[in-house]
Amino acid sequence: MLTIHRADGAEAPRHVGRALGRGARCRCPACGEGRLFSRFLKVAPACEVCGTEFHHHRADDLPPYLTMAVVGHIVVWFILIAVIDFELPLWVHVVVWPALTLALSLALLQPIKGAVIALQWALRMHGFGGMADEEAILRPAAERETAR
Ligand SMILES: [Zn+2]
Repeated sequence: MLTIHRADGAEAPRHVGRALGRGARCRCPACGEGRLFSRFLKVAPACEVCGTEFHHHRADDLPPYLTMAVVGHIVVWFILIAVIDFELPLWVHVVVWPALTLALSLALLQPIKGAVIALQWALRMHGFGGMADEEAILRPAAERETAR
């Protein structure tokens, strides 16, 4: 079990594995009940059940990159098996591989984006820990200044 604790112990630990599972099911990483998305890839501003805010997320391009990596490995594996073990007509290759790629990409993109956002929540990244990125970067320097 990987659980992240703050050094001062002021906040409750967040279970990373549980959050990833909830995010992959497109549910709120905090409570597992509320929906994470309001539309296909549009993240809801907050959980309708527990009120956890999601607008902090910075998933950006990571979900498409991860989706391409996963789908690429799956489709290329099937293509290699088909080419090595079977003699399929060209039209089968033209029809099947793009359709499989599109279907897998659409099926995996939302769960992967949910897992990325849940990971950011569990690790208290990008404001999920109650502190904006700019404040988190500047605070240690400011605290060093006051300590002198
Ligand atoms: Zn919730």
